[in-house]
Amino acid sequence: MRCLICHGEDIQTKQVREEIKVDKNIIYIPIQTPVCHTCGERYYDRRTVRYLEEMEHKLQSSNIHLQEVGKVLELVE
Ligand SMILES: [Zn+2]
Repeated sequence: MRCLICHGEDIQTKQVREEIKVDKNIIYIPIQTPVCHTCGERYYDRRTVRYLEEMEHKLQSSNIHLQEVGKVLELVE
């Protein structure tokens, strides 16, 4: 498999954190997905896309276990 963006061949399945935004919060979802090591492009298969959609839906409900890992801050000028 070659990267569609940079045509590099160095694509390996890695553990990455996908960001899902819920209200003002960003929630990291750990997933395994092929990533191009040259340009960083991620290749999601259908199962992963469906999983992320499901998680996004689940995160709308409050009875899911989340751990705070830090804050997301914005520069105010
Ligand atoms: Zn690439």
